[in-house]
Amino acid sequence: MVLIDLVRRFRPDIPVLFIDTGYHFPETLAYRDRLVARWGLNLVVVGPDTTVAEHERALGVLYETDPESCCFLRKVLPLHRALERYDLWLNARRRDQAATRRELLAWEEQVLSGGRRIAKVNPLWNWTEIDVLSYLAVHDIPLHPLHAAGYPSIGCGPCTSLLADPDDPRSGRWSGTRIECGIHRR
Ligand code: SF4
Repeated sequence: MVLIDLVRRFRPDIPVLFIDTGYHFPETLAYRDRLVARWGLNLVVVGPDTTVAEHERALGVLYETDPESCCFLRKVLPLHRALERYDLWLNARRRDQAATRRELLAWEEQVLSGGRRIAKVNPLWNWTEIDVLSYLAVHDIPLHPLHAAGYPSIGCGPCTSLLADPDDPRSGRWSGTRIECGIHRR
């Protein structure tokens, strides 16, 4: 939301991509809709070809048996397909979020699943959690409602739990067994 607020001030019509895996918390969808309405965002919902029911009928409960494939089918492929229309991807990862992000640079390149290369820019790369919370407070932007309930990193419902390690904000993702879904793999 910090990144969206910063960018929308210069480009109010910038496409904001939301990956709807079908497994989001209702609170996430309501939070998204609230901010989309408040700012009049140009929301672009991207998602997999199958509904959750079709997906589970064909493959079972993949988030339990093979979360790597579940994320690939329901997050990575839909997002990369949507990014084919663009040359630049702005995203809000920060160095302080996880060990996998410590070397994050402001400007990177992303190879899409189809092989095309686009620029990937991380404007908040050196922001801290305190910077983010301060920005939200100063600009009166609400936090995701589950944040206050103890979930500092929120993804799909079945793969988000309370923190396994209170010092690691992403340790509640995939029950601590993985900390990245794969959309940022280059
Ligand atoms: S986060 Fe979980 S439910 Fe969501 S796409 Fe990945 S494995 Fe599937």
